[in-house]
Amino acid sequence: MSQAVLELTPSRLSARNIGGLVEFRLRRLQMAQVSTRGDITQVLTAMGGRTTSSSFRGMTSHAPGNFTLHTTTTPGTRAWIKQVAHILGHYHLHYILKHRGSPAGVIRCQNGGQVEREADVFAQVLLAAGARSAAEAA
Ligand SMILES: [Zn+2]
Repeated sequence: MSQAVLELTPSRLSARNIGGLVEFRLRRLQMAQVSTRGDITQVLTAMGGRTTSSSFRGMTSHAPGNFTLHTTTTPGTRAWIKQVAHILGHYHLHYILKHRGSPAGVIRCQNGGQVEREADVFAQVLLAAGARSAAEAA
C-alpha cells in the first residue's frame, strides 16, 4: 500500500516558542531530562510512537496518536537519539501543528531549509533540557 506524502511547511515558531513547546511536553510527561535511549523512548511511547530502521529519515502516521519514526542510524547510539529527537520535532512542528494529527501519510526529511532548521532547534532544546534544569537547580 503506498502512503500519501505529506507536505512539510515551516511552523514559523521562534526558537523561544519551540523551547516552550518542548518544556510543556516534558512537564506533561513529568520528565526533567531526555538524554538516554530509554528517556527518548519513553517520550516517544507516551505519544504513541515507535521507531524502525529505514532507508530514509522521516515519519509515517498511521492514525491519530499512532506513528512510526524512520531512522537511518544504529539504534541506541548518540546519533540515533539525535535523529529521533529531530524527527520528533517534525512530528510536533510540522505534523501536529499543521495537520492536526489526522491524515495518515509519510513525512520525509528534506535537504536543508527552514523545516529542517526548526526540527534541529526542537532536538537541541529537547536534548539540552536536563542540562538546563540541572544548572537552574544548582
Ligand atoms: Zn528532518
